[in-house]
Amino acid sequence: MKNVFSLTHSQLRELISSWGYPAYQADNLFRWLYGKRTKSFQLMTNLPKSLRKKLSQEFFIGYPEVLELREGRDGTKKYLLGLEDGEAVEAVRIPERGHTTFCLSSQVGCRMGCKFCATSTMGLRRNLNFWEITGQVLRLMEETEGRVNIVLMGMGEPLDNWENVAAAIEILKEWMGFSPRRITLSTVGLLPRLKEALLRFPNLRVALSLNFPDDERRSKFMPVNRKFPVEEIIKTIGELPIKKRERVTIEYVLIKGINDSPADARRLGRLLRGLRVKINLIPYNENEIFPWRRPEDERTETFASVLREMGFSVFVRYSKGNEIKAACGQLRTSWGKGS
Ligand code: SF4
Repeated sequence: MKNVFSLTHSQLRELISSWGYPAYQADNLFRWLYGKRTKSFQLMTNLPKSLRKKLSQEFFIGYPEVLELREGRDGTKKYLLGLEDGEAVEAVRIPERGHTTFCLSSQVGCRMGCKFCATSTMGLRRNLNFWEITGQVLRLMEETEGRVNIVLMGMGEPLDNWENVAAAIEILKEWMGFSPRRITLSTVGLLPRLKEALLRFPNLRVALSLNFPDDERRSKFMPVNRKFPVEEIIKTIGELPIKKRERVTIEYVLIKGINDSPADARRLGRLLRGLRVKINLIPYNENEIFPWRRPEDERTETFASVLREMGFSVFVRYSKGNEIKAACGQLRTSWGKGS
């Protein structure tokens, strides 16, 4: 038996027609599966009984299995979700004022090798299929009401698995009612694919993980910079087909003594001058893998105020979920190993 979610909409249309039913029944099936999140074919009352029976003989309705769940004091929940081949990924559900944010993974591990990120130490084990990405949403929706925003900031570089990420966004948009406006794709800067992504989903929100204002340090900490250096990133941001009034988010992880000085803030500000951006500062989340430290809050605030004085909108993300290692750069499948 196969997981029904592993089929695309067009594959299901074809299959259902080949069984002698009108192809539009695939639309109905998709509405039940993704829109109403129904977990039994028998409950899909507008499908012919014989079709329901046939579907349940051929398929099962499978969400990623919750292998482990950790909850932080602030209500942030980190899920370890099991996939059918025994791999696992993490997804995080973050309660915010007025809405909930889901932080999703796009790959098992990551091959980008950023030297401050726990996920990088796993290497890339494999890409997630599109349904394993939408499956995370279906699973987290089980205990969520109200407005949800999605950030593709979990394990993996979404643009390194763009085909599956795009297919997942398509389903979220068409069948689950998520405007791409409520989906943020976070990337280290795979620039040609970034342009492609915005051409396909013009309203998609983009977060660029810049972290260093110069090539020397960025290449040292983020090997991808050797291929797509800072200058090209800045040029690309200026050229992105972003709607008026919208801005690209620049993510900047502040690491004590490495990239957190007022001079670095000024350098960053000069780099971003004239671009439609807002800046998210993320004080580093310390972990047992890397020796890097988190700057004192005062230093972070100084960094932020230098940029504010230069006219930028700056948000400091004192990460939620820190104590359950659900915060940015801490996602790594190491459950049960004491981390
Ligand atoms: S920061 Fe993102 S791109 Fe870099 S290694 Fe971690 S998951 Fe991959």
